[in-house]
Amino acid sequence: NRPKLVVANRKMNGNLPDNARFMQSVLQETRHHRARYAVCPPHPYLQQAQQLLQHSHVAWGGQNMSRFERGAYTGSVSPLMLKEFGCTYVIIGHSERRLRGHESDESCGERFEAALKAGLTPILCIGETLEEYELGETDLVVVRQLNPVISHVGIQALAKGVIAYEPIWAIGTGKAASPQHAQAILSFIRGHIGLLDEQVAEQITLLYGGSVNPGNAAQLMSMPDVDGGLIGGASLIVEDFIQICQIAN
Ligand code: 13P
Repeated sequence: NRPKLVVANRKMNGNLPDNARFMQSVLQETRHHRARYAVCPPHPYLQQAQQLLQHSHVAWGGQNMSRFERGAYTGSVSPLMLKEFGCTYVIIGHSERRLRGHESDESCGERFEAALKAGLTPILCIGETLEEYELGETDLVVVRQLNPVISHVGIQALAKGVIAYEPIWAIGTGKAASPQHAQAILSFIRGHIGLLDEQVAEQITLLYGGSVNPGNAAQLMSMPDVDGGLIGGASLIVEDFIQICQIAN
């Protein structure tokens, strides 16, 4: 009974005409869907997203955010700015940013909290490296990444955000996690949350991300704890993304 959520993380791709084609097609093709959708373009295109998507069923969001509202933080974007351009969502702690060494688990907790304070829905990305996966440390890693967020916002507020499990070895590699692995980890995450609050565990939206494509989406999304997907590469091909939306719906 949790409606599916499909989010396009367009990363550092697109341009005005390509974005317009993408967003207009998604709008058109998902008009009567029950599933929820969001598009996260690079920050300069948020105004374009606002123009094309406002008052529609498709939401938009940022790909990253500072924890500060304003100040001398060259190159950063504040929660208030995302809000001013109508964002519903903001991705926090994507592995492509964590791996540059700039984003700690603690900073993700602070920014999750700042996003909620600004009225944004944070999409927290967590997931293990290939090495951690091979060592069987996935559970440890996701708990380590999740706990600072819970200690910052409290368990009740966690449900106002979204958690995306994105194993790093599956991102952009064409090697998605098996539906069984995705289910096992998301079920573990829901169980971990459930130790603190069963209702939050039941309500919270949990996504899988990492090489989702039209060929594997149906199996992944049929898993009971997979409430949708965070889609990178396949969101660059409009026909593929729409197929994934149709599957989610
Ligand atoms: P791919 O779908 O390209 O593997 O990327 C997933 C991702 O990082 C979404 O945030």
